[in-house]
This record gives sequence, structure tokens and C-alpha cells, in this order.
Amino acid sequence: MSEAALTLSNLTIAYDRHPAVHHVSGTLKHGSLTAIAGPNGAGKSTLLKAIIGELAPAEGRIEHGLKRAEIGYLPQAAEINRRFPINVLDTVLLGDWHQSGAFGRVSRAALAKAQGALHAVGLEGFDKRAIGSLSAGQFQRVLFARLLLQDARLILLDEPFTAIDARTTRDLLGLVSNWHGEGRTVVAVLHDFDQVRTHFPETLLIARELIGWGTTKDVMTPDNLARARAMAERFDETAEICAPQRETAA
Ligand code: ADP
Ligand code: MG
Repeated sequence: MSEAALTLSNLTIAYDRHPAVHHVSGTLKHGSLTAIAGPNGAGKSTLLKAIIGELAPAEGRIEHGLKRAEIGYLPQAAEINRRFPINVLDTVLLGDWHQSGAFGRVSRAALAKAQGALHAVGLEGFDKRAIGSLSAGQFQRVLFARLLLQDARLILLDEPFTAIDARTTRDLLGLVSNWHGEGRTVVAVLHDFDQVRTHFPETLLIARELIGWGTTKDVMTPDNLARARAMAERFDETAEICAPQRETAA
């Protein structure tokens, strides 16, 4: 097994030819715990979507050697439709779809695992609750239970703690730390720099282009953060791939 869990080589991802992630290269080590930080519109969500194969690179390569089912992915809350009429237990069981098949019968083992996962996230007894009736924090616990069931090698979390209460955040950070302890590779997009510095040994800082990728101490410097902010002010929504950077008029 190679040391790298994930390699990005000169990766550019574009929407309708407008690049949102530009020429990013680097590697994630197996078992590493990495924060992705950067301003709004920096391409953080885009990067995760490309890693799971939802978006194709315009240029460059992504290598991880994993099947989609081996990658756990938690989208940003805004992208999840909670009005879907499904209960907590069935939502958690979706984490097992690669074992049971989309329309397969749910095994006794899967049910037991789902109950165990609900227990682990502090939601015992919530099985039959409709997901639409949960608080934001409770719903995030359900999605973490689903990830527990999936048993993924690589786990990608997009802003898992945004608009989540402090107690839930603490509990879910505990699960992230367990995953790290189990040798899984974990990546989380985060806005809270204290959280990044306290809980995430590695950081990828991006503002469409890579600003830094390495130990959190080396990457989250005042200089790098100022550079990220300055680049965000110059984000050009209309730039074509590899067009020379235009200077913005005042
Ligand atoms: P972040 O997650 O860092 O806030 P995103 O990856 O969501 O940033 O977005 C990066 C850029 O790509 C933004 O300019 C955003 O407007 C643009 N973008 C994101 N999704 C789409 C889409 N589906 N179609 C067109 N542009 C998009
Ligand atoms: Mg995002």
C-alpha cells in the first residue's frame, strides 16, 4: 500500500469553463486528519465533490484507488433535503447500501449495526422519528451515524459543525477523533480556526489556488490567512481556464 491515501496532480475543476479550483497538487497520507480552510467561494466544496467523482476534473488528476462506497461524504447542510419523508433508522441504514444493495432486504446484522451507531451518536430511541422533525444538531448526529455504518476508509465532511450546537459539535468531534484513531483518513471543511488548530494536525488552505498544505502550524499563519483573504477579494467569476489574471479595477 502506498503512503498516499489521496493524490491531487495539477487539479483544475471548472463549472462551465469557469475554474473554481485551480492547479492544485499534493497528497494526503493514509490515516491523516486534515482541515480544509479558505474563504467563501474558495472551492472547498468543489474539491470534495471532485474527490467523490461528482465533478470531473477540467485538468489534472485525482488518485485514491477507492470505490465510491469506500468514501464517506457528508455534504454541506444546505444541500440536503430534509423534507424527504424518511425516518431516522432508514436514513442511517442508507450507510449500508453498498452491502445490502439499494433495494435489498435489511439484514439483522445491519439493523444491529444501525442501532449501535444511533447509540454511539446519542440518539437511542429516535429510530422512528421523521428526519424533518429533528433539530439541526440531531440531524447531524444521524448523518454521522450513517457514516459510522458505512465504515469508509476516506471520510470527507463539508462544514460538519456549521450552525450546530456546542454540545453536538463536541460529541461529533469525538467521533472524528475516533475515526482518526482507527487509522481512517479524515478531511473536514471548517470555518472555525480554533477548531482547526486544536483538533486537526494538517490543513489544506485554499482560495481557488492552493495557499498551503501541510501541518496546521505551518499553514495557518497570519501571512497565509491574509493572502487567502486578499485572493478572495479578487475572485473573478468570469475568468476562463488559465486566462491571465486580470487586475480588478479598484
Ligand atoms: P466553498 O465551498 O469554498 O465556499 P464552492 O466550492 O462551493 O466554494 O464554490 C466555488 C466557486 O464555484 C464559487 O464561485 C461558486 O459560485 C462556484 N460554484 C459552485 N457550485 C457551482 C455550480 N453548481 N455551478 C456553477 N458555479 C458553481
Ligand atoms: Mg462550501
